[in-house]
Amino acid sequence: MTADVPTLMLMIVVSSVAMAAALLVLGWGNWRDGLHYWAMSLLVGAAGYVLFLLRGQIADAWSVVWGNTLMSVMFAGLLAAVRNFQGQPMQWPVMLVPPLFMAALMQHFMANYGLRVACASYLLACQTLWVWWTLHARRQSSPGRGAWLLAAGLAVEAAMLLARGSSALASAMEGSSILHGNTVQTLTFMVAFIALLVTSMGFVFMAKDRADETNRRLAGQDALTGVANRRSIIAALERAVASALRQRQFMALMMVDIDHFKHVNDRYGHLAGDQVLRHVVALIQQRIRAQDMVGRYGGEEFLVVLPDTTLQGARALAQQLCDVVQATPCAWEGGHIPVTLSIGVYGGVLAPQDAWDLLIHAADSALYCAKAAGRNRVELAQAQGPFTRPGSALSGTCPTPLS
Ligand code: GH3
Ligand code: MG
Ligand code: MG
Repeated sequence: MTADVPTLMLMIVVSSVAMAAALLVLGWGNWRDGLHYWAMSLLVGAAGYVLFLLRGQIADAWSVVWGNTLMSVMFAGLLAAVRNFQGQPMQWPVMLVPPLFMAALMQHFMANYGLRVACASYLLACQTLWVWWTLHARRQSSPGRGAWLLAAGLAVEAAMLLARGSSALASAMEGSSILHGNTVQTLTFMVAFIALLVTSMGFVFMAKDRADETNRRLAGQDALTGVANRRSIIAALERAVASALRQRQFMALMMVDIDHFKHVNDRYGHLAGDQVLRHVVALIQQRIRAQDMVGRYGGEEFLVVLPDTTLQGARALAQQLCDVVQATPCAWEGGHIPVTLSIGVYGGVLAPQDAWDLLIHAADSALYCAKAAGRNRVELAQAQGPFTRPGSALSGTCPTPLS
């Protein structure tokens, strides 16, 4: 099986340039994803192939030495792209050792085609594996499709280069020019072409996977405090309710409200109010466990979902929160803003009819009771009240204030 090698190389050149242009347009202004490094590497690789294509028409020193050195620079650039994507420092002196080594090797073995091909192929294979290893060593807990595609493309490219180097050493390569058509040459440049497409698509997908992940995170986050927003805390509550029902476990829910918050805004300004919100969230986060979750339900109201927690456990935690917030006024412009909380708590084993909205209702009613009883206190949701559905364990009546 043979194909015209110059045609294959021309395909690689044209697609590299087209893809580099597209990546530069796509990634312009976004220097975090490394797309510009990837694009520049493709252009350098294309320049290397142009020098190969001109074999016989320009001096061998240009075609052989510079052609292969540019290939090596291309792989150094791909490594730079991956490191840039991962936010790692560049270490250019180390990364540019292979291209310098390549230039020296090509100069040295100029007269021996087989050895030249073997050295160049092995060195490029090592660089490809270096990129693969960098990607693998810093991979995220759940690498996306882009990272898989890139890793697969790099692995195929490395395997092809190793096979080409071995075939050159075993003198299986016929002919004496890179432009000569034979099976090894055909396979080499076909695989190079496919690997170029697959790895470039993989890298673009990595950037897209990361953008998707960032958007997903931002869509579920409260912009001011950084905790879950209303939508995601309700989703977390739904999951916790389903799990507690399935496993017949205790669970608790707190509705936390800052007392007289309007007064804070009126007296100190809205920026101070914002700072108080962040301050309260930080104090809550310091005291909850990893499996608990806090989210902003409304303006100055927060829900705290406490899986596997009894009513008494939740009550103790709520009291701790009230105490610590009262004891830790919020620092603001050299002074301090006193803050207190009222907290309504539901806790217990759920009945099958209990849904997330009933739990919120129960905790909210208890919060209302805490407000009615004078604020800066904790109240518990009581058994059976007017809003419960048949069979529910929850209630909303205002109990006698707890001491
Ligand atoms: P209570 O003790 O009964 O809870 O009284 P309150 O003043 O805390 O409650 P009220 O509902 O009267 O006022 C809540 C205020 O919270 C009104 C609103 O302007 C303010 N608010 C809501 N969201 C934000 C925010 O993101 N930043 C700031 N600074 N204020 C906010
Ligand atoms: Mg309030
Ligand atoms: Mg409120």
